[in-house]
Amino acid sequence: MDLGISGKRALVCASSKGLGRGCAEMLAANGVNLVMNARGAEALEKAAEDIRAAHGVEVMAIAADITTEEGRAKVLAAAGDVDILVNNAGGPPPGSWQDWEREDFIRALDANMLTPIALMKALMPGMMARGWGRVVNITSQSVKAPIAVLGLSNSARAGLTGYVAGTSRQVAGKGVIINNLLPGIHATDRAVSLDTAVAAQDGITLEEAMDRRAATIPAGRYGTAEEFGATCAFLCSQYAGYMVGQNILLDGGSTNATL
Ligand code: NAP
Repeated sequence: MDLGISGKRALVCASSKGLGRGCAEMLAANGVNLVMNARGAEALEKAAEDIRAAHGVEVMAIAADITTEEGRAKVLAAAGDVDILVNNAGGPPPGSWQDWEREDFIRALDANMLTPIALMKALMPGMMARGWGRVVNITSQSVKAPIAVLGLSNSARAGLTGYVAGTSRQVAGKGVIINNLLPGIHATDRAVSLDTAVAAQDGITLEEAMDRRAATIPAGRYGTAEEFGATCAFLCSQYAGYMVGQNILLDGGSTNATL
């Protein structure tokens, strides 16, 4: 199926590894030119080079912390006009509601709520003026069903979800479509770090922690960045124009809910 986005230009934040990388890869496979971003320049340059070689698209790599004002200014100045924005950043650390202080919440809100909002505010006017745009926010399964140890994530991502619900309906008429993608557990470095914390807390090995978690998922396994990226590419396609402000769960059936 031709997604109809060949020749478009996308900014994919936090994309040297993991889910962001999966999205960059699948957009490139569909002919989209990329602006990729991560903090670490070496892994980012390598990912950009691999994608150029595999898909023959233009790839610009901008090393910057997307959760800071300076980082965003650097990325936006280099990116210029884009047709597609994929918002992503590292997730907040796990912990307990008894320990989190105001500063912990401010950091989580900055990274996982206010950063995507700032990038939408900067880039959507151009998309609206050109009459076409797509925004995908990588959030979390925790938006549908809270994860106890990820209260900072539960809170920040719920805030972003409320913002998207209201804003998506104000820009859709200008051809700009915003949706959220909600990952359940996927086999990335983030999953390794979460499972390492579980293993340490419960006195088991990393493999045991992963097997135990996989056994709780109806699909019986972790998701892949490739599957995730393919869904993202569809949400960025010509065919997603009637899907407005939705929250698409990719969790192998983990969230036990009818709707
Ligand atoms: P990951 O494998 O750890 O990859 C994170 C990517 O983001 C890396 O390329 C990293 O590169 C970049 N990055 C992190 N912080 C950044 C920042 N401040 N500025 C720019 N780039 C940054 O993580 P992932 O599993 O793909 O997760 C992506 C998002 O989905 C996270 O918010 C995570 O909480 C959420 N999520 C993941 C899962 C899962 O199972 N994997 C489940 C639910 C939600 P640098 O470190 O070099 O910057």
